[in-house]
Amino acid sequence: MIKYPNSVTEHEAIELNKFCNRLTNFFGIKIDSMSIIEVKSRADFDKFFREKTENWLVGETRGKTVYILKKNKFESDSIHKEEEYLQILKHEICHIFISKINNDCPSFLAEGLCENFAGQTKRIKIKEENLKNFFGKDIFYVNYNYNEFANKEGYSISFWVVKELLENFSNSVIIDLIKISKKSSDWKKQIENITGISYEQYLKIAKSKL
Ligand SMILES: [Zn+2]
Repeated sequence: MIKYPNSVTEHEAIELNKFCNRLTNFFGIKIDSMSIIEVKSRADFDKFFREKTENWLVGETRGKTVYILKKNKFESDSIHKEEEYLQILKHEICHIFISKINNDCPSFLAEGLCENFAGQTKRIKIKEENLKNFFGKDIFYVNYNYNEFANKEGYSISFWVVKELLENFSNSVIIDLIKISKKSSDWKKQIENITGISYEQYLKIAKSKL
């Protein structure tokens, strides 16, 4: 059961319920209850985060609660259009499913899955230096610093990387990849065991669209 705020229309609620069923089928888990709370303004978002938030930030998920900027404030208080509201809500709901599997899931996998499921296609033209930064170190599987992830096109890169993974691997493989803790020292070996290919081949698949 989802408690929707008043600005979610009946049509949107039906679509979100269908979306949750799709996620339940893919991830093989059910979320019994979740809440969606609307944040009235940018100023209230800043208060919530206790800092000045970026103008692209309109949603945040904590546990089983999604906080989202009020729909009619999207255009005045963020860079997003009101039409993006439903996609962003889907993105945040997807985070609830992923963190139920592993709260410690690497950013690229969590964000890339949320973007792909929510249908938030990203532009493919990525700056060369950001690609180098993303793939250059072992940070491919460990979390970036959040600002670095956001400011160095981590969202766009993750969208394409995960799109490729979804096209190449079954949902059970994706679920097992989500379960790898970013704290484990043998994650390369774990990727190999899960996917049946070497980490280098896995990287090659991940990079192939970029
Ligand atoms: Zn996200």
